[in-house]
Amino acid sequence: MIEDFLRRGYQVNEFGDPADVCVINTCTVTHISDRKSRAMLRRAMRANPGTLVVATGCMAQADAEQLSRLEGIGLVVGNQAKEQIADIVEDYLTGRASDRVVGLESARAGSFLKPCLYSHQHLRTRAFVKIQDGCQSFCSYCIVPFVRGRVRSKRPEDVVAEMVQLISLGYKEIVLTGIHTGLYGMDLEGWDLERLLEHILAEVDGVYRIRLSSIEPREVNARLLGLMSSEPKICRHLHVPLQSGSDRILASMGRSYTGEHYRQLLLEALEMIPGIALTADVMVGYPGETEADFRATFDLLEALPIFELHVFKYSQRAGTRAAEMGGQVEGEVKQHRSQALLSLADAKRDQFIRKQVGSSLTVLVERTVADNIYTGRSDNYLEVRFASPADVVGELVEVSLKQASNSFALGCTGA
Ligand code: SF4
Repeated sequence: MIEDFLRRGYQVNEFGDPADVCVINTCTVTHISDRKSRAMLRRAMRANPGTLVVATGCMAQADAEQLSRLEGIGLVVGNQAKEQIADIVEDYLTGRASDRVVGLESARAGSFLKPCLYSHQHLRTRAFVKIQDGCQSFCSYCIVPFVRGRVRSKRPEDVVAEMVQLISLGYKEIVLTGIHTGLYGMDLEGWDLERLLEHILAEVDGVYRIRLSSIEPREVNARLLGLMSSEPKICRHLHVPLQSGSDRILASMGRSYTGEHYRQLLLEALEMIPGIALTADVMVGYPGETEADFRATFDLLEALPIFELHVFKYSQRAGTRAAEMGGQVEGEVKQHRSQALLSLADAKRDQFIRKQVGSSLTVLVERTVADNIYTGRSDNYLEVRFASPADVVGELVEVSLKQASNSFALGCTGA
């Protein structure tokens, strides 16, 4: 969206600075995301009275009519129209269009994601290429398929063009993102995620590495693991959502794997790709989750060499199957279970970091934390800090890990 405005000659300011238009990209994945999105919209209105406040993203898509009635909201733009956001804003500002709610309809069949070529290196050291949008899995608790629509991929040639552009701008790590990345290519004949990765590696030259965002357990296959183990350009990092370790709960969620499948998968990944960072999403308090179900989740995760856990408390989303289920779990119970998993996550992270001490890792340097002290992430997603006399922000640097610290590792360049 930023690039879309830049191409039209707009200047992009920091949030809170004076602006003619203020776009808030909302989220609705949990009730907390809703609350934060509303708070951001209110902050935008307060910071710039008289600005055109535009709400887009998933909460705008799910709740368009209600949002459009809020005093101070100028435009509500649905997810499918985000790719044309600058056009929509200009049409409204110049009076060519007067509708205040735009683009709620689903994407046309056969339409692909529009490519986005960056004009310059934005602040971050890591760039993102969105390879697909949408999901049609309809897990019982999840609102995403309702607000993102069915799977739409980006054409492989557009993915390659974006990557070439990003690398020419100086980015050294590119994250391939999406809503359900493992379904990449299901709307493109003969394409899938693994073929896309092979295509990128064959077509895109230069010094760079690729990180995959989240991938579902059923979509981590032998080809993908083989590519990760043989291609140094693919980061040794798999984020595989678990959600629950109880087979009864997984079945109710509509997720087609068991705890045992998940366990075997992670162990296989670890065997094929030594040092791999395995990270996961896990949910507590799904309707009907008993103490025994929770214990199955806890035990499964405790026994696995997980690096990081993202713990979510189940949140009722209107229109989903789970929102109508009996056995909704009390907030206090969710809090207790979440806390237990967060403590486990801390212990797991420390174990992983300690195991890495003694190894040498390639770190993408993100920023300084003190004079001549830099921090960044290794290919296996460890935060690593080290001293350097030269400014190495944005560079890939070999670092030998000497010591584990609180949530990161300390190392040095050279021997
Ligand atoms: S696969 Fe992910 S995005 Fe799709 S419905 Fe399930 S949880 Fe939601």
